[in-house]
Amino acid sequence: MAFRLLASAALLLPLQAAHAASDGSGEPASPEVVALQRDMITLDTHLDTPETVDRPDGWSIMDWHDVRSDYSQVDLPRMKAGEFDGGFWAIYTPQGPLDAEHYAKVRDFAVMRGMSIRLMVASYPDQFELALKADDAARINAEGKRIVYMSIENAYPLGMDVSMLKLFYKMGVRETGFAHFRNNQFADSSTDPDGPKWHGLSPLGLELLAEANKLGMIIDGSHSSDEVLDQLIAKSTTPVVLSHSGCKAIYDNPRNVDDNRLRALAAKGGVIQINSYGGYLRARKPNPERAAAAKALSAEMGDEANMTAEQYSAMLAKRREIDAKYPETDKPTFDDFMKHLLHALQVVGPDHVGIGMDWDGGGGVVGLEDVSGLPKITAALLKAGYSKDDVAKIWGGNVLRVLRQVEAAADPKAAE
Ligand SMILES: [Zn+2]
Repeated sequence: MAFRLLASAALLLPLQAAHAASDGSGEPASPEVVALQRDMITLDTHLDTPETVDRPDGWSIMDWHDVRSDYSQVDLPRMKAGEFDGGFWAIYTPQGPLDAEHYAKVRDFAVMRGMSIRLMVASYPDQFELALKADDAARINAEGKRIVYMSIENAYPLGMDVSMLKLFYKMGVRETGFAHFRNNQFADSSTDPDGPKWHGLSPLGLELLAEANKLGMIIDGSHSSDEVLDQLIAKSTTPVVLSHSGCKAIYDNPRNVDDNRLRALAAKGGVIQINSYGGYLRARKPNPERAAAAKALSAEMGDEANMTAEQYSAMLAKRREIDAKYPETDKPTFDDFMKHLLHALQVVGPDHVGIGMDWDGGGGVVGLEDVSGLPKITAALLKAGYSKDDVAKIWGGNVLRVLRQVEAAADPKAAE
């Protein structure tokens, strides 16, 4: 009888679901789960989508795109399909040399990127709204629009002048990170091949932390070294958020955080937002031909920011050729992502965990390649025994709680 039931159940299951259990790509969410997620405010604390919005080839946030063809992961139609309400749209700048000439260049780039986030919002005022306060999220959501908080991923563009942070605050920025892949003038990176430079925050980094606290910005410890994170937790007047990070207990990588640090973060009210960047989820078998082809392509094409529309289209075509010739192998799956999410939940509980998947910045896993499938996460959390209230905290409640604390601790005179 059991055999018969199993066999007929398998026949009734859609092909995708039958296939999902074994390959780690997760189960599709039922219409009930999708409806449940619709009632929640769903935020991601690190969206690299502004870089996509600025593509030179006429890419529009208003159109549905195919991740396999143009590699983008977030647009308005897919946000709607995935019951995804918005989050922190990042001003990201890669780390460059620490000198006056480069500080000036990168400052201008960051200001312009902030302008394009605001331009996107201003271009489609019925669809997007700039959010400046924690309470804005619920209001914008109730009006059926997408929520656009702004953030800085790497504080490098502030140069040697922390008062520049006020300009970005006035522009709308409410979350700031300190470092990226390399050490900078403010802090050590978790991934600098040269090791620590400051053993935490530099004297200027301490000033930046104080300035961000005074203005009222969320302090983001992602990408910074463990020593920096320890100092942020100890010295910030408000809880620290890891906008896109993972768990060292699941995969020992410098970008991931160990359980004791997670407990220290949570003890001060902070939150870890779980990342889906494949290289940080688990060890992968090397794919040297693909890596070499990708490296050669980026050397050939140069900086994306300077490409014409034709050059950009040619670059995408070459990326697709590489995918066909040297397919991505051993790519981490939805289940690999869920291992980090469920581990963090086990260690610090549902008040201190959220979602920050690094969309359009390298995130995405087999089974969840873009934001259209986000209800899978809700389904998996419910299946793991978390309540609807827990899931709502994870999807947005926790980070909004921190933002409220940040607002309450700010000095209103600081932004004048
Ligand atoms: Zn990042």
